[in-house]
Amino acid sequence: MITASPLPAQPSRPWQRLWRDAITDPRELLELLDLGDLAGTVLPDADTGFSMRVPRGFVARMRRGDRSDPLLLQVLPQAAELLEVAGFGHDAVADLDARMAPGVLHKYVGRALLITTGACAVNCRYCFRRHFPYAGQTAAADHWQTAVAAIRADVSIEEVILSGGDPLSLATAKLAELAAALAGIAHVRRLRIHTRLPIVLPERVDADLLAWLRATPWPVAVVLHANHANEIDAAVAAACQRLRDTGAIVLNQSVLLRGVNDSADALAELSARLFDCGVVPYYLHQLDPVAGAAHFSVDDDRARDLVAHLRERLPGYLVPRLVREIPGSAAKVPL
Ligand SMILES: *Cc1c(COP(=O)(O)O)cnc(C)c1O
Ligand code: SF4
Repeated sequence: MITASPLPAQPSRPWQRLWRDAITDPRELLELLDLGDLAGTVLPDADTGFSMRVPRGFVARMRRGDRSDPLLLQVLPQAAELLEVAGFGHDAVADLDARMAPGVLHKYVGRALLITTGACAVNCRYCFRRHFPYAGQTAAADHWQTAVAAIRADVSIEEVILSGGDPLSLATAKLAELAAALAGIAHVRRLRIHTRLPIVLPERVDADLLAWLRATPWPVAVVLHANHANEIDAAVAAACQRLRDTGAIVLNQSVLLRGVNDSADALAELSARLFDCGVVPYYLHQLDPVAGAAHFSVDDDRARDLVAHLRERLPGYLVPRLVREIPGSAAKVPL
């Protein structure tokens, strides 16, 4: 389980203070939303092994008094997480088999994925990382040395993907340290960053980060993670614009979640809202079958049906690719 505080004590940036000020008590969250009465029935009565964490700015986008709010459902621990459901396990995507070095996963041709950190600004209840054994498994641990050496030794690696956890939970100086170490490797030609921080804590997209992105020697793709249009308020839209202004290509991936975004209206509005911010939908993921998340699952036929509706309503470039991760496959698998 993830308990470590990932942030250096000094110097403290505004986003780091907001990070620390996140809500971690489910009862406090329910109170803030005028839903305090639900605590006794909705919350788990035992430890789920995955604590709650949600920045206050994200909570401000939730509707008060609505127990079905699509943002609330993504972060609130619920009793249903304690049910054991066949097929939902602990290493849902077989990450432990794909290690090329500590904190480096090499599953797909040409791309190495760095688990940069175990930390996230928000704990999403559906996430496979709720069970990932991060201890000793992050690429940042030894100033990136082992990870960078593994990438240098494999000339097939053209793209380095920063993932986690959330790579933007690291201080920008730490990211700069990595970029400097990778800069001498001739076969690396693209950098990709998978992050939910610009969505849940848009203050993270600060001047330091933007300067770093501008200075990297590679074309950069930033893949955001938003699941519902309500996650994207004016501050998030402005953060997306700042990212685009660095020259980065900005994409979004979502997870199809029952009760959150499993309607054609919700998915169409998400795509439209993303494009308002200059962000292009990339993937719509079928849920990884991770223990504790079965109550979010949508069956494959409905998933295909929803995307067929999207295709009828939206320009092709606003229809995300519906995929699933299947252990051992050479790529994400289209449904
Ligand atoms: C998803 C994933 C990628 C990226 O896949 P794309 O289809 O290129 O987006 C790369 N490495 C790992 C380990 C992944 O899980
Ligand atoms: S931000 Fe991403 S990695 Fe972190 S808990 Fe949410 S889905 Fe998982």
